[in-house]
Amino acid sequence: MKLYNTMSRQAEDFQPLNPPEVKLYACGFTVYDFTHLGHLRKYTLDDVLVRTLEHAGYAVTFVQNVTDVGHLASDADTGEDKLEKGAKKYGKSVWDIAHEFEDYFWRSMDAMGNKRPDVSCRATDHIAQQLAMVIELEKQGHAYVIDGDGVYFDTSTFPEYGKLARLNVEEQQEGARVEAVAGKRNPTDFALWKFERPGENRAMVWSSPWHKRSFPGWHIECSAMAMEYLGNQLDIHTGGIDHIPVHHTNEIAQAEAFSGEQPFVKYWVHHNFLQVEGEKMSKSLGNFYTIDDILERGFDPRALRLLFLTGHYRSEMNFTWESLEGAQKSYQRLLKAVAGWAHSEEAVSTTAQELQTRFYTALENDLATPEAIAVLWEVVNHVELSDSEKKQLVVDFDEILQLELASAAEKLENLSEVVEIESLPAEIQELVAQRETARKAKDWQKSDDLRNKLLQKGYNIIDADTGQKLELVHPKK
Ligand code: AMP
Ligand code: ZN
Repeated sequence: MKLYNTMSRQAEDFQPLNPPEVKLYACGFTVYDFTHLGHLRKYTLDDVLVRTLEHAGYAVTFVQNVTDVGHLASDADTGEDKLEKGAKKYGKSVWDIAHEFEDYFWRSMDAMGNKRPDVSCRATDHIAQQLAMVIELEKQGHAYVIDGDGVYFDTSTFPEYGKLARLNVEEQQEGARVEAVAGKRNPTDFALWKFERPGENRAMVWSSPWHKRSFPGWHIECSAMAMEYLGNQLDIHTGGIDHIPVHHTNEIAQAEAFSGEQPFVKYWVHHNFLQVEGEKMSKSLGNFYTIDDILERGFDPRALRLLFLTGHYRSEMNFTWESLEGAQKSYQRLLKAVAGWAHSEEAVSTTAQELQTRFYTALENDLATPEAIAVLWEVVNHVELSDSEKKQLVVDFDEILQLELASAAEKLENLSEVVEIESLPAEIQELVAQRETARKAKDWQKSDDLRNKLLQKGYNIIDADTGQKLELVHPKK
């Protein structure tokens, strides 16, 4: 198997530390707002990685955290705590926010067909481990206290600081100048532990040797929990590309300084972003869609999964409703084909075996999901394969793809259909035209009324991103 390693900037032969064991840690979700499609893309492609490793015979231990404290709104150590920010936004306690958004995260993950990790660990349940690590780092001379602020990692004590991101000193100074913290010894030093400021009255605080009311920094949680469940060295650590220059750079420094063992992580796997109109889909920008937005518009989450699989995890993907419509149409085509094939246990032909090999070779080549999906279509359209062979193949592929192909007929019954407006009854076309006029006149009330009227008649309107052309999804009753 080949896996691209951010550390070497190359696709490398995957050789775990203790085969067949694979220790995998995935940076989890910060539970201060809704899980959006950007997150779902990242975790779906993590899921494909885990399933591909398992298929290749590895015994994967998959650990994923839940960030429910300490993640500041900026990568510098001066921003507002995200949980406190979420609590304010929704007028709830931080604990309620954390619980509700964690639930929402799992619900979204389940809808996508993503396997739950073997260990899901919350930062607030592992305060003792994080604290022990910071105390040890201070004892070893890797950390220092800034009065009234926090405990900081001294990056000058870790000569290889920045090796993952290939930061040079100049860039580091440049980056750090934007939001400097008074008292830091080096611009790249980062907070391991923070102190509550007078009058701040934070909801989540713990007593530490340095301060009665204090809390962990963001980076320490991932290293502490990864080491708690997987030991000092991991095979794979995943995260979004935004984590390369700060979060993962800091994780390496604190973990390797703490344990004295190298490397903390053998393969660093980073996911590129899902974008909307040229910008990263993100909670802070507010340009996000959730799994409920998908469902409300009549789309199947597995059509979204198919869409994600048509892009490579290291490439950006731009999300549009049109692309999801396209995926839903493809998904429908796939289900129709599979539903028509009777199952049989008979042995597969050489052609079938070749296709199977190509499918797994693609995935084992740095998770080339677009190629794997192309092989799937080749199977569907193949003229030499028997239907039962086709069915055997796609059901086998589906262990990784998770498109619910084994129950294609039932899925098809409930799948909403994307239909062209031109093919609809005149009465419906008329309502759509009226709504378009209302929208152009910015008469939102009328536009909503017409939308509901169409819904009652069984038509769910999708407003395309262009704002002009409307597409419809016809929900099945
Ligand atoms: P957060 O909850 O912001 O800590 O993000 C959880 C994970 O999702 C991180 O690994 C992020 O890098 C990743 N992520 C956030 N937004 C996106 C996006 N638009 N596309 C892909 N991954 C994302
Ligand atoms: Zn992390």
